[in-house]
Amino acid sequence: MNVTDLLRSLALDPADLKPTPHRQATAQDAAERLGPDPLPCAACGTPARSTRIIDTPSHGRRWLELCRDCMLATADRRRPTEPLAATLEVLRDAAEQVGVTVRVLVDSPKAA
Ligand SMILES: [Zn+2]
Repeated sequence: MNVTDLLRSLALDPADLKPTPHRQATAQDAAERLGPDPLPCAACGTPARSTRIIDTPSHGRRWLELCRDCMLATADRRRPTEPLAATLEVLRDAAEQVGVTVRVLVDSPKAA
C-alpha cells in the first residue's frame, strides 16, 4: 500500500503527523515514541504499538504511530511477487547445497 493510500485508508491528513528530525532517525527515537507511555495511534487514539517514518508527497517525512488493530488493518497482504514454482526451486537448491532432504507442503488458496 503506498503512502497516499495508507493515509486515505486511515483518514489521516499528513499535516497532523509530527515531522521527523532533520538528522537520521534512530532506533532510540522510535523507542522513545513507544516507551512506557506510548504515543497515541494517529488514527484512533489508543496507545500505539508501532511507529514508522513515512515520506508523504505534500509534507515530507512524518512519524506514523499505529495501534495493533490499525496496523493490521492496513498491512499489505498482497501475495508474493515470486511464483510458487520459483520459490520452491530456490528452496530445493538450498536444501541440496546443505545436503538435507526437505518435504514442503503447500496449501493452495481457494478461488474467490
Ligand atoms: Zn489505531
